[in-house]
Amino acid sequence: MTDEPRHHARADMAWNRSPRCGAKTRSGTPCLRPAANGKGRCQLHGGAKGSGGPRGARNGNYRHGRRTREAEAERQALRALLRELRGDE
Ligand SMILES: [Zn+2]
Repeated sequence: MTDEPRHHARADMAWNRSPRCGAKTRSGTPCLRPAANGKGRCQLHGGAKGSGGPRGARNGNYRHGRRTREAEAERQALRALLRELRGDE
């Protein structure tokens, strides 16, 4: 182990590991831009805000509401709270 500062390295790694867009560009190579949050594509390739199908029950793939982004976020927050209350980080 070295003592060199790691904050830059860690930021670079997070960027490198983030999912890529991968859309086929006009030159035939995959798009290397990072995919937009929660979407598989970058802002230019369908990941932009407001693009895509409707959210929730108006989307054709909607089943029971247990897997919506809101429901998942709620469970995730609850799990974090329980972890905190248990005191084991
Ligand atoms: Zn793209």
